[in-house]
Amino acid sequence: MEVVRTRAALRATLRGAARPVGLVPTMGALHAGHVSLVRRARAENATVVLTIFVNPRQFGDADDLAGYPRDEAADLATCAAEGVDVVFIPPVEEIYPPGFDTVVRVGEIAEPLEGAARPGHFEGVATVVAVLLGLAAADRAYFGAKDAQQLAVIRRMVADLAIATDIVPCPTVREIDGLATSSRNARLTPTERAAAPVVRAALLAARQAWADGERSGESLRQRMREVLAGEPLVDPEYVSVADPATLAELEVVGDGALLSLAVRLGAVRLIDNETVG
Ligand code: AMP
Repeated sequence: MEVVRTRAALRATLRGAARPVGLVPTMGALHAGHVSLVRRARAENATVVLTIFVNPRQFGDADDLAGYPRDEAADLATCAAEGVDVVFIPPVEEIYPPGFDTVVRVGEIAEPLEGAARPGHFEGVATVVAVLLGLAAADRAYFGAKDAQQLAVIRRMVADLAIATDIVPCPTVREIDGLATSSRNARLTPTERAAAPVVRAALLAARQAWADGERSGESLRQRMREVLAGEPLVDPEYVSVADPATLAELEVVGDGALLSLAVRLGAVRLIDNETVG
């Protein structure tokens, strides 16, 4: 396993690499969700590249950025155990060198939900992913369905900018009680952690209501609000029942609609989603 920290070293390492090349972009603090992406990439590619970069441009909140968990030694051990070939861990100035002056702004699909709650977030995500895809020139790149809007934004960008990397969505990995695995879960207190499964419960209740015949978007959103209201520690930020392609809120909910929500639980912000049908 090679660990590289500069754009030039990554390019040099990948110049003669066996193809196909699979890329797994992460912010580190690797957990079972990341590992599932690596395993998929390992199964489908001759060379697997994992990147660890806590991208300042996608954080609106300086405290969230400062408090983001980092554990390079543990991450490298995970990568070695999973058979990663190349780990790219650049310092900030390697991704954004002096004079860096381009942003990628994806349009309508980046506006609602996470885009509305976190101004500038998707501009930061799209910009860094464009840099990483440009550097790695990977055949495939792996992203988690847990971040459904992020996946949609990246797919839009790759299609629009004719980036020659296939984007591969991977299912959400969950803890035994249904909470989506996340680096942020470690920051929940034990009491908050015990309350956290309500996030998934709200999504499942709405999905069940749809399966039972409910087709009103507002009724399904209300169903999620009701379940969340049963847990006083949870402060809902949004609940959404949206078209999976456009992320526009639905009045009438058909097969494949995206249920998603964001809540605050203590100091931690959690997101999750499900698909109906
Ligand atoms: P992050 O390090 O949080 O930026 O995540 C890096 C990648 O891992 C993104 O594509 C995420 O969607 C994905 N990911 C994070 N958590 C999970 C999870 N629980 N299941 C599947 N993929 C995940």
